[in-house]
Amino acid sequence: MTIIHNLGFPRIGAQRELKRALEGYWAGKQNAEELQQVGRDLRTRHWAVQADAGVAFVPVGDFAWYDQILEWTTLLGAVPARFAQPADRPVSLDTLFRMARGRAPSGTPAAACEMTKWFDTNYHYIVPELVPQQDYRIAREDLFDQVREAQALGYQVKPVIPGPLSWLWLGKGDAFSTGAGDVGKLTLLKNLLPVYKEVLARFKAMGVQWVQIDEPILTLDLPAQWREAFAQVYAGLAPAGLNILLATYFEALGDNLPVLKGLPVQGLHIDLVRAPAQLADVVALLRPDQVLSAGIINGRNIWRTDLDEARALLAPVKAQLGERLWLAPSCSLLHVPVDLAHEHELDAELKGWLSFATQKLDELRCLAAFLDNTADAGIQAALQAQRVSLQSRRASSRIHNAAVQRRLKGAAELSRNRAPFAQRIARQQKELGLPAYPTTTIGSFPQTSEIRALRRDWKAGAISDSAYEKAIRGEIEHVIRFQEKIGLDVLVHGEPERNDMVEYFGELLAGFAFTQNGWVQSYGSRCVKPPIIFGDVARPAPMTVAWAAYAQSLTDKPVKGMLTGPVTILQWSFVRDDQPREVICHQLALALRDEVVDLEKAGIGIIQIDEPAFREGLPLRRADWAVYLAWAVDSFRMATAGVREETQIHTHMCYSEFNDIMSAIAAMDADVITIETSRSNMELLDAFEDFRYPNDIGPGVYDIHSPNVPQIGPMVDLMRKAASRLPAERLWVNPDCGLKTRAWPETEAALLAMVQAARTLRQPA
Ligand code: GLN
Ligand code: ZN
Repeated sequence: MTIIHNLGFPRIGAQRELKRALEGYWAGKQNAEELQQVGRDLRTRHWAVQADAGVAFVPVGDFAWYDQILEWTTLLGAVPARFAQPADRPVSLDTLFRMARGRAPSGTPAAACEMTKWFDTNYHYIVPELVPQQDYRIAREDLFDQVREAQALGYQVKPVIPGPLSWLWLGKGDAFSTGAGDVGKLTLLKNLLPVYKEVLARFKAMGVQWVQIDEPILTLDLPAQWREAFAQVYAGLAPAGLNILLATYFEALGDNLPVLKGLPVQGLHIDLVRAPAQLADVVALLRPDQVLSAGIINGRNIWRTDLDEARALLAPVKAQLGERLWLAPSCSLLHVPVDLAHEHELDAELKGWLSFATQKLDELRCLAAFLDNTADAGIQAALQAQRVSLQSRRASSRIHNAAVQRRLKGAAELSRNRAPFAQRIARQQKELGLPAYPTTTIGSFPQTSEIRALRRDWKAGAISDSAYEKAIRGEIEHVIRFQEKIGLDVLVHGEPERNDMVEYFGELLAGFAFTQNGWVQSYGSRCVKPPIIFGDVARPAPMTVAWAAYAQSLTDKPVKGMLTGPVTILQWSFVRDDQPREVICHQLALALRDEVVDLEKAGIGIIQIDEPAFREGLPLRRADWAVYLAWAVDSFRMATAGVREETQIHTHMCYSEFNDIMSAIAAMDADVITIETSRSNMELLDAFEDFRYPNDIGPGVYDIHSPNVPQIGPMVDLMRKAASRLPAERLWVNPDCGLKTRAWPETEAALLAMVQAARTLRQPA
């Protein structure tokens, strides 16, 4: 029988039980034992779900209180000095929480560790902090306790741990400043490997047979020294006598494939959803004693698998490898919601197209039986049902919109070009009459609990449309009056009607669906509920025009219209898998183009299209960047080029590195780009300076993530610094990002100081 297994199960809980327990514990409302009990319950339940589906080994080590990398970092005792961890004592759960978020119910608060995106997912991990000669030791017992816990329940266990090379690659330290690939980090292997050996020896002593070691960096562009390090590392781990399943995911092994040749591991997991074409090359490389774990069910998306297609791909391999072929999801199921059974509002047709973590394991079980030709009546029926639902999806009139498709075909002729920037900006200045160093904000104003309650009541039908509209108009008026009062130059309406910058648009566009419980962990206790783009995207009616026009009607100052860009909507949704992403992106761009044109018609002279996810859309391999950047930039230009030269287009991007994508940023050709720079002390401007970026820039002058009110002096200094690098006449003054997470008092004080700073800058030196 073909073995099926799983790389990891979502830990947050179908009802976000872990989130609630964590937040209760942090707030002092639950004690540590209550928190531990929630963890045990979740693990017990999740192992049972997996065992019921027939997985051969339950994964252990995928459970994490905050993040699986942080679990491992603390197991290794790699605690930064500022947390004052005694070298001879175990690392406590509260120290783990202090590392994650700066504070915990016990222990002295200290600056939290950095958090960053996990490969190209929307999950964030806590970055390990590396120092030269760092000492490692087994400093936490949780993982071993969990192995025992699962064994006590009668399960065969497969511990899942980050590989030493991936852990080092993901780590950072002041002594290793040249990026992920700094070879200096490899010197830490000397201290690291003995602890890995000790961990494996302890697993072995506990009766474990297989351990899954995740080395996802094998799908990245690796410097030669990193590639070469694999042989030495795994030769070092082999004597532990455990079967090692080396897991790779998110991309093809590509030029790292030769690394695997002769590597003393007993199995290899590859991602056949993202990279099916690598199958033959990998099979050719396997030794007769090695297992291939085929990642065949998509761990990153929520569509049902075409099991006939999967079987067709794998049948020849099955014939060749027999029992040495295992089946698994492509990656950990961390990236999909837990269970479709908790969706009660999706219609039956759409629901039939979907598969969450629990359903994916069922698909795996069916596929195994199908491949083995052992499908009983129940599985036959399930296979047939799967075929029917896939067929219904392909044929459904709901996913095809002939008008959109026709329009997209003709879209090649739609203009993407505006007049040259110099000409545009001159006309815009004439029309807008803004002072030097114009001031603006990024869009949202504080989302008070009253605003949230208002939206909730309206959605629940508790208040009428007209009462809702009146209340939102009241909020807009309040925000406009405030901005006028403090003397901002370009105003915004404040986004009170938006719960979330993607969900708001998704709800107004055709082709989107929303779940009730489709939560996916983003970081720690934070979850997101990505919209599902299931069909051709269209804009049945204007989405923001009425609110923007109302805001503009209240003031003589220009009000900036506010939209979310096509790439960001795409990145933060579950996207249909029957069309290339670039097609969906262009459909979104067309819908937004119409909105931009309608805003202009309604008298809005400045329109901002936020693209905070622009950089995170970059493929993992550099060779694939150009193709992505070409369609991402083209989508932005398509969305924005429908307006007059006088209409000013802004874009906004949150903290990101720009130096290696400057030509794409310039090609977007926004009249004004606002970016997060205050935390980097304007260092992010280097890229714009070196590139001689020609258009206007608003480098954020204060950090909106902190409640601290910024002082005038430092903001003036930051802007002077910016003006020493870029022409002063190209500069805007604005906060780093939207203000929705802030409270009013600090927002008032901060923006007032910011306006004062701009006034200081305008005075002759
Ligand atoms: N306009 C959005 C806001 O101000 C932008 C949010 C973002 O950049 N993530 O909230
Ligand atoms: Zn932002």
